[in-house]
This record gives sequence, structure tokens and C-alpha cells, in this order.
Amino acid sequence: MSAYVVGLTGGIGSGKTTVSNLFATHGTVVVDTDVIAHQLTAPGGEAMPYIIAEFGPNVASSNGALDRAAMRQRVFADPAARQRLEAILHPMIGDQAMQACTSAHSAYVLLVVPLLVETRGWKKRCDRILLVDCDEATQIGRVMARSNLGETEARAILATQASRQERQAAADDIIDNDLGKLELAARVETLHRAYLGYAKSKNFKPSVEISRQIAQN
Ligand code: ATP
Repeated sequence: MSAYVVGLTGGIGSGKTTVSNLFATHGTVVVDTDVIAHQLTAPGGEAMPYIIAEFGPNVASSNGALDRAAMRQRVFADPAARQRLEAILHPMIGDQAMQACTSAHSAYVLLVVPLLVETRGWKKRCDRILLVDCDEATQIGRVMARSNLGETEARAILATQASRQERQAAADDIIDNDLGKLELAARVETLHRAYLGYAKSKNFKPSVEISRQIAQN
């Protein structure tokens, strides 16, 4: 069971998946809240009966998964609908993520939360916050290269997220992902070693004999 949780965050396209894959190569268990959200809304997903009860059958595709395009339209036009969707999904994501963290068998867990800085509740579940940071221009370039979004749409998404400064202020550690992928791997390795040390200190439980000696001195 892993008790030490490193929360990993960063803006859209900053490199969270790339970085978490590098941590996984060191044997670290990665718990990704985006992956959990997709599972909950996949065909047969646990959240689907609640979402259909709340929004009607039109937000589900014929295979029973969430129709993301239909749902996006609903929440885009109606902020209250977004809140209703989040009220269903967020507690489920939180429960499943924490269960996965506590049952993980690595020295520490990497908990990937894109909106960690923006969402109350996540920060206090993390022992440490790691930010994947990059220049806005790099971020926009990577988002555009990966999807069919134009620059205006990419900028509009960035505008809905915390600013780079807000994220930096909340972070204990920062990975500069303007660097190439080789430098990135080296930085991850350094942080991995540090996290092993932090986790060991936190999980250290003195034996009864040592506790007695400490109490006597
Ligand atoms: P999202 O917010 O959409 O989930 P993300 O933060 O997980 O994205 P990635 O998917 O890891 O970001 O990276 C976005 C794109 O940028 C990918 O195509 C990835 O290959 C590329 N990329 C990430 N880091 C680097 C890097 N250091 N050098 C070059 N390309 C990179």
C-alpha cells in the first residue's frame, strides 16, 4: 500500500502524459484522473446511469458511452449543466482515485490531476505537487500539432485554466518541459530518487523498541 502521493498537474498539452509515462518506467504507479473519468463514462461505465437520469438518453451514444460532443454542447451553452455533470463525476473520480492510490504497491504514487490547482480538495490529498510547466507558445504549438484545433480555440481553452503563475505558486517541484525529451527523462529520474527518499521518511514507522527509547530520552 502506498501512502505517499505526488500530485502531477499542468495545463493542456504541457506534457503530463509524457512525464507520467517516464515515471512509470521507474515502476511508479500512475493514477490518472482523466483515465478514470473516461472509464466512468465508457459503455457500461458506473457514472452513465446517473448521467442519463440527470440529462436524458440523448447524451448517450448507441453503445451506452457518453456522447462527448452532445454533452459538450449542453455544458457549453449552460454553466449550471456543467455543475450538474461535475456533481455526478467529481465524487466518483475522487473515490476511485484515492482507492487506487491506497492500494498501489509502489513506494509513492503519481496522481495526475489536470485541474489540481483549480479544484479544491485535490491539493490536500497530495503530499507534494509537481508541475509540468512550459512556455505558452510551446503549449499552444503542441496542442495544435496534436489535434485539429486552431490557435484561437487553443488559446480559448488555456484562458479557462489557471494561469502559469498560479500553477507555479502552488507547486513544490517544477519540470521545465520546454526542454527536449532526453533532458526530460533525466529530470524525471532525479525527481524519482528524491520522491523515494521523501516517501521513505513519511512511511517510516519506528519499532516499539525505538519508540520507547525516543520517549525515554
Ligand atoms: P492533455 O492536457 O491534452 O492531456 P498532456 O499535458 O498530457 O496533454 P502530452 O500528451 O504529454 O500532454 O503532450 C502533448 C504533446 O506534446 C504530445 O504530442 C507530446 O508528444 C508532445 N510533447 C510533450 N513533451 C514534449 C517534449 N519535451 N518535447 C517534444 N514534444 C513533447
